[in-house]
Amino acid sequence: MSDCIFCRIVRGEIPSKKVYEDEHILAFHDINPLAPVHILVIPKAHVASMAQLEPEHEVAMGRLMVAAGRIAREHGCADGFRTIVNTGRVGLQEVYHLHLHILGGPDPLPPML
Ligand code: 5GP
Ligand code: ZN
Repeated sequence: MSDCIFCRIVRGEIPSKKVYEDEHILAFHDINPLAPVHILVIPKAHVASMAQLEPEHEVAMGRLMVAAGRIAREHGCADGFRTIVNTGRVGLQEVYHLHLHILGGPDPLPPML
């Protein structure tokens, strides 16, 4: 996806504050943080949303979930954090390259709807 903003971040065409990278996933700070810790974790291979996931994505998505917990702990979220994946129009997804939000304190986050 040549014009996808997160694919462009993966390729290094747009700068980002990376916190973790391996062959399957990339994690970087959200440009507009909504909490003291706000990190996005994405599969490097383009997939538009959770609704488009196929069995071929299982390795990358497994890697993503395990890494997310470790990244959260490493960024001061030992007392907990929230993860969100917004999907599609109803989920108010803005960037159509699947991403997991990690949101953390130190104080408790506002309740969800
Ligand atoms: P969504 O609403 O799609 O779940 O969230 C998209 C997120 O991507 C938003 O929190 C937004 O701030 C973040 N974002 C959008 N463009 C960029 C960018 O160019 N760099 C970074 N680091 N984050 C971005
Ligand atoms: Zn993409």
